[in-house]
Amino acid sequence: MFIKNHSIYLLSVLLVLSCTSESEKLESALQSISVQDIQARIETLASDDFAGRAPSTPGEVKTINYLAQQFKEIGLKPGNGESYFQEVSLIKIYADKSMVFNISNGKKKLSPEFAKEFIGGTPQIGDYIMVDNSEIVFVGYGINAPEYGWNDYEGLDVKGKTVLMLINDPGYATSDSTLFEGRTMSLYGRWTYKFEEAARQGATAAIIIHETGAAAYPWGVVQNSWYDSKLYLEDNMFLKSDLQLQSWVTTECAQKLFDLAGVNYNEISVSASKRGFKPVKMNVTASVSIKNKVEYAKSNNVAAVWPGKDKSDEYLIYTAHWDHFGVNPAFEGDSVLNGAVDNATGTAALLEIAEAFTKLAKQQDRSVLFLAVTCEEQGLLGSEFYAKNPLFPLEKTVGVVNIDALNILGKTKDMTITGMGKSNLDHYAVSVLEKYGRYAAPDPMPEKGGYFRSDHISFVNAGVQALYLSRGVDNVEHGKKWGMEQTEKWIVENYHKPSDNYEPEKWDFEGMIEDLKIYFEVGYLISNAK
Ligand SMILES: [Zn+2]
Repeated sequence: MFIKNHSIYLLSVLLVLSCTSESEKLESALQSISVQDIQARIETLASDDFAGRAPSTPGEVKTINYLAQQFKEIGLKPGNGESYFQEVSLIKIYADKSMVFNISNGKKKLSPEFAKEFIGGTPQIGDYIMVDNSEIVFVGYGINAPEYGWNDYEGLDVKGKTVLMLINDPGYATSDSTLFEGRTMSLYGRWTYKFEEAARQGATAAIIIHETGAAAYPWGVVQNSWYDSKLYLEDNMFLKSDLQLQSWVTTECAQKLFDLAGVNYNEISVSASKRGFKPVKMNVTASVSIKNKVEYAKSNNVAAVWPGKDKSDEYLIYTAHWDHFGVNPAFEGDSVLNGAVDNATGTAALLEIAEAFTKLAKQQDRSVLFLAVTCEEQGLLGSEFYAKNPLFPLEKTVGVVNIDALNILGKTKDMTITGMGKSNLDHYAVSVLEKYGRYAAPDPMPEKGGYFRSDHISFVNAGVQALYLSRGVDNVEHGKKWGMEQTEKWIVENYHKPSDNYEPEKWDFEGMIEDLKIYFEVGYLISNAK
C-alpha cells in the first residue's frame, strides 16, 4: 500500500513539475502578446498613410518596408536569402469602363450599363478584344465535377460560345445534403472555379449571374473588385485559353436577358439544381469590344524566419495577407479602404506571434516562417505564387496556420476551424482551446464558402496541411446568437468597404488577445510535434 501510494505521490509531483516547466517555458512568450503592441501595429497598418495597402502602389512600399523593419527589430532572419521580400510577377489589366457589351436576339438588343448592371473584363493581354455575336448557352452552375457525378458541360462544345451560369452550387440551392456539400459551398460554387472551368472548356466568354445570398456578398463587393483593374499572376491559365471575357450581371440584368431570350429564368434556375439538367441554348448572342490597357507589375510577399533547434530544416508557416483594396474614388467621402479588420489585424498578428516565439525559454524544434502574402484580395495570388515558388521545400513544410481577420467583438468560448476535418492539424487547435476552457467549432456560415476564400487553400491545393483558424461567434457575455448577428452585421456594413476602419474606441481587444495566444500555442505545438 505504502509503495503504491508513494509512487502515485511521486507521479503527481513529476506531473506538477513537468506542467510547471512547460507553462514556464511559455510564460514570457505569452506575456509578450499585449493589447498595446497589437493596437500600435494595427493602427500603423490601417492608417491612411498606408493608403489601403494596394499591391504595386506606394501603399505597398510602406507596408512591406514596415513589416520587414518590424521582423528585423524582433530578431527574425530574412526568409529569402538576404531579403525579407519575395517578388511576385503580375499582370494588371485595367477595366475598360466604356467597353461595349451587347446582348441581342436578332431583333432587340440589351446594352447593360457598366458597373450598374454588369461588370467584368478580359483576362487577355491583346490591345483590342472583340467578341462578335457569340451564341449564349445557359450551363446551369457551370460545373464539371466527376467526384459528385455532375457535369453541366456534358456533350457540349462551347468553343466560340458564351457560357451563362449561376453562382454557388446545386447543394446550396436545394439544401439537399446528397448534392455536393449540401448548404456548405463547395469548391465548385466559387466564381474563380467557374471562370477557370469555362476557360478549360474552351468558351469565348463567361457570364456569372450574381445573387446576394448565393454569392455570399452583395453586388457592391463584385463592383468593387472589378471596377478599376484586376491582377493576375504573370504565369496563369487564362493566357493559354480562348476566354476573352469574364463578367458578372446583376439578377435584374439576368432577368432582362432571359426575357429577351424568351426563357423563364425562375424555372430554368430551379431545373439547373436538379440531376439530369441539360444546358440550354438561349438563341441570343453576346458581343463585346474592349480597348485593353495592360501593365506588368511587381508585388511582394514578406517572409521572415525564426529558426528551429533540432529540426531547423522543417517549417511551420504562419500566413496572413497584408494587402487590401487601396483607394477607390467611386466611394464618396472616405475613399480609402483601410482594411483594418481585413487584414491589418492578421498582419499585425504575425508580428505579435513572431515576437512571442523569440521570447520562448526553450527554442522550438522546427523553424517558423512568417509569411505576409500579397494579392489575397485579387484571388489569393501571393499565396498561390509562394506555393508554386516556395522559399523552403513544401515537402519539409509540416503545416500552415492562416490568419485572416481577428476578433473585435470580445471574448468568445469558441474559435472557428473553417474546413474542420479537412486537415490533420485540427487536433492541435482543439487541444490548445481546451486548455483554455474553450472549444473549436466548425464554420458557422459554411454556405459563404470561407474555406476557399483565404490563403491556406493555395497550400492545400499544393498538398500541404493547412489550418484556417479564426474568430469565434459564441460570445462569452452575449451568447452565440448575438455573436452570429454581430458578425453578419459587420460583414454587411464594413466588409470590403471604406468603413473597415481602425476604431479602438469601438473594438473589444480582450477576445483578440486570447485568440492570439491560441494561435501562438497552436504553432508552438506543431513546431515541436514528434
Ligand atoms: Zn482577408
